[in-house]
Parts: sequence; C-alpha cells; structure tokens
Amino acid sequence: MNIPDFTVLNAAGLNLQAIFNIDDLPAELSADIRTRFDPEHQYRQLILIGHGGKTLWASMQSAGISGENPIDDFSKMIVEKWLTGHRHTIIYPAQDSVGLQALGKLAGWHHPSPFMVGINENWGTWFAYRVVALTDTDFPPSTPLISASPCQSCLSKPCLSSCPADALSGDTFSLQKCITYRKQPSSHCKATCLARTSCPVGAEHRYCDEQIRHTYSISMRMIEQFY
Ligand code: SF4
Ligand code: SF4
Repeated sequence: MNIPDFTVLNAAGLNLQAIFNIDDLPAELSADIRTRFDPEHQYRQLILIGHGGKTLWASMQSAGISGENPIDDFSKMIVEKWLTGHRHTIIYPAQDSVGLQALGKLAGWHHPSPFMVGINENWGTWFAYRVVALTDTDFPPSTPLISASPCQSCLSKPCLSSCPADALSGDTFSLQKCITYRKQPSSHCKATCLARTSCPVGAEHRYCDEQIRHTYSISMRMIEQFY
C-alpha cells in the first residue's frame, strides 16, 4: 500500500483529505457512485478533498486564477497535478451532484449547524468540499475524525439571534425565510450570512471578506435565478 504525500495539496490550501475504498462505502452510496460514474469498476478509491481556512483563496490569487469559477478551476488544477501518474476521474465539481455532506459525515468533517452549513471543532464553518476524485490508487483508507458537534456545547448560540430573517428560530432551518429576506433590496445578507459570521467557533479561520463576498454572491445569483 502506498502512503500518499499531501504536500502539494496542503501547500495550495487543499488541506483536508479523506480516502475511501469505494466498495467499503455504505451500500447505497457505493452503488450510486458505481452506477453514475464508474459502471465498469475501473476505480478502487474515492478521494474527498476540501479546504479549511484562508490559504486556498490566497494561493489561488497568487496563481493569478480568475474567471467565473476560480476556486473550482484552481482546485481541479492542483488535484490533477497531485494525481499525476494515477488514473482518475474528477466527479466533483461537475454537472452531476455528488453527496458531499454524506461523504463529509463519513470523513468526520461535518456536523449540521442551525443554518445548514457544516461545522466542526477544528475549522468551525470555515471549510468546504472542493474536489471528489475516483482513482486507481491503493492508499490506506482514512480514519474518520471523531469529535462532538461544537453546537452541543454552545450555550449562547449567537447565530440564532444574528439572523435578521429569524430563519433559525424554529425546529428546523427555514430556507424560505432566508431566501425571502436575502431577496429584499435592503437585505444585509446579499453577500454574507450574518449567522455564520457570528459563530465564534474557528473564528481565526474565517475567510477573508473577498472570499465571503464571492461565496455568497454565487448563492445570491442562484436565488435570483431560481426563486
Ligand atoms: S454559534 Fe453556536 S450554535 Fe451557532 S453554529 Fe456556532 S457553535 Fe453552533
Ligand atoms: S444568509 Fe442571512 S437570512 Fe440567511 S440564514 Fe444567514 S443570516 Fe439568516
């Protein structure tokens, strides 16, 4: 079994990696991956790659990457470089959806927060899934990170009161309230989420303002297009 060297990924800020044997994934997920992306069983492993914190954005800017989807383009470019010599297919980012949060839970990265963004004790909510690749690698599968959800011990829950749409006050997150508020001309959430930025967990890893604006401007465009 080969030991993976993550230096290239870590240097670019793609500092979260989880390796799964496709056949050891939960049966439904494994079958879905094989059916949609690998019907001929060419690949042995699925590698989930994410970023935590500020480094990825800074690296991307240093590389001079721009365009409509600069984070996706840069992440794919780095992962392609890292996987040189291994047969592989990148299945995310792509047109078809992949169960990112399901994979994140298996990796131990994801606990649900009241505003539906994943949270963990290392990065708070300041991490994201960047690339999923199917590969012919023979790396040791990763051990899932085990940690309690930070929300369980968060007594004051500032995210709840920081949401101007009151979207977090019910038993479940009200996407409708969030969207309705964000669409208002005077919304303070056109290019941010005040609930997310109020969370104290992992605050030192909070994205720079430019990255937050970039991220939430994309979701705002989707809201304006589809709702
Ligand atoms: S403020 Fe507290 S309850 Fe809200 S997401 Fe952060 S840790 Fe969880
Ligand atoms: S984007 Fe704004 S309205 Fe939506 S959950 Fe976050 S704080 Fe609330």
